[in-house]
Amino acid sequence: MATINENYLKLEKNYLFINIAKKVNEYKEAHPDADIIRMGIGDVTLPIAKCVVDAMKKGADEMGVKETFKGYEDSGTGYDFLKEAVSGYYEGFGVTVKPSEIRINDGAKSDCGNIVDIFGDDNIVLITDPAYPVYVDTNLMSGRKVIYADSNEENGFAAMPDESVHADLIYLCSPNNPTGSAYTKDQLKAWIDYAIKNNAIIIYDAAYEAFITDEAIPRSIFAVEGARRCAIEMCSLSKTAGFTGMRCGYTVIPDELTVIASDGTVVSISQLWGRREGSKFNGVSYPVQCAAAAVFTKEGYEQTRENIKYYQENAKVIAAAMDEMGIKYTGGKNSPYIWLKCPNGMKSWDFFDKLLTEANVVGTPGAGFGKNGEGWFRLTAFGDSERTKEACERIKKLKF
Ligand code: PLP
Repeated sequence: MATINENYLKLEKNYLFINIAKKVNEYKEAHPDADIIRMGIGDVTLPIAKCVVDAMKKGADEMGVKETFKGYEDSGTGYDFLKEAVSGYYEGFGVTVKPSEIRINDGAKSDCGNIVDIFGDDNIVLITDPAYPVYVDTNLMSGRKVIYADSNEENGFAAMPDESVHADLIYLCSPNNPTGSAYTKDQLKAWIDYAIKNNAIIIYDAAYEAFITDEAIPRSIFAVEGARRCAIEMCSLSKTAGFTGMRCGYTVIPDELTVIASDGTVVSISQLWGRREGSKFNGVSYPVQCAAAAVFTKEGYEQTRENIKYYQENAKVIAAAMDEMGIKYTGGKNSPYIWLKCPNGMKSWDFFDKLLTEANVVGTPGAGFGKNGEGWFRLTAFGDSERTKEACERIKKLKF
């Protein structure tokens, strides 16, 4: 008889955004004329930069010509031209990462979720709460013990290590989804010191690094001393360049990162991950990698930054509305998310219902990201500028 991985039964029945979509669809069915503005799911809305699309078309054309056709990519870790482009991008903000330490993937979610494959199920996993749900779900799926570091109003939603607690794997996300807060160099150094002391590995999600405006906030954990000995960094072109529907990201595993196996052998994490990928992943399509490389050209960089600026303006509009209403929030400055405190002690899902039914605006209840998210709410700046302004006007008219 086939059995199942019963850890799956311990998960929330649905992924957060499926629950939200269900509620919105029910409301839409009952109110077909409602003009709903969606500021819930963190998906981009602007089209991809022209030079990036042109590069993808060129790559696709090459696939139709015998001399330039490409089948399986030899390494499955990405073409050299793209790894060199990513390495150059890091160099641009003062971080040295070798092309051979970079692995191209189909987005950060896959690697964030799959990285657990190479770590023992007996690891104690520390996740900041609230968090992007993938970290918790994928560790529960493999039956690991998960402990939490509280990100809350008191610490500005920047959880810091507790020296009295031991962890083996640590998930950090900066700028953070959902809270929009971003770690300073000193805060990251404290996490790195903690990881080294505990022989732990930090899985660092930098999916929103392109939104950092504050010079003092590091764009990569590798900008901080010691990180190469204890961290893996995951990044994505989804939010940087509108690739949510294209699918391309990259993971950086420094050569120095090792773990001692139970027989005393020193094992390279990069090699172990390479072994996993060799059996379970066949790389990213050539035209998409051509498009991704175009993001890192001067022209591509300028064009994609225009889109980011557009979203940053939306974030300012939402932040201004919160200021006007006297609602407390974090984020919006180094992040496309505004994380607001529900007025009058309202619970997240009650605030969601109020916003949906009285303003026809959809956001994301903070409670869906963990216990510390209760009473908080996430609005995204990824929408259309006029619709964002309209949503803010509607929210400002609400009575609490
Ligand atoms: N990491 C964080 C923190 C995210 O918010 C997201 C997507 O919303 C991802 C990773 C996944 O991005 P990708 O589209 O690259 O899979």
